[in-house]
Amino acid sequence: MTDTASRLDQILTKLRALDCRITPQRLAVLRILLESPGHPTMEEIYAQVRRDFPTVSLATIYKTATLLKGLGEVLEVGMRHGSSRYDAHKPYPHPHVICTHCKAILDFEELPLAELTQAIAEKTGFEIRDHQLEFFGLCPACREGGSPT
Ligand SMILES: [Zn+2]
Ligand SMILES: [Zn+2]
Repeated sequence: MTDTASRLDQILTKLRALDCRITPQRLAVLRILLESPGHPTMEEIYAQVRRDFPTVSLATIYKTATLLKGLGEVLEVGMRHGSSRYDAHKPYPHPHVICTHCKAILDFEELPLAELTQAIAEKTGFEIRDHQLEFFGLCPACREGGSPT
């Protein structure tokens, strides 16, 4: 079984165990999330689902994404400007590098996060459960094209 197929299977099992109705539209959202190589927006997912289900609403897409987020199967990446992006490949908190010009978004995991988290916990007395770390700037392609502000 491919990664995508086994993840899909896992998530469907979880949804069934929770008595969630798995409509063809929900399944389509789930598939697109798992098959998208990058970090799609809800609008991008909506456009793709509509090819097969022309009557689907954006609200259905959001509800499905919110459900999956609640289950810890999708990570929402908040953008300062523009729509949130969704990562179903790595549903755990991880740092992103984001181009403010073309909105390209990359995962960047080569950071000593475990040590950082531990240092923060020790210094503040907090029990750290989550983090959100986004770096904004210009990607190499946008830097080439002159730097817009
Ligand atoms: Zn760019
Ligand atoms: Zn990511």
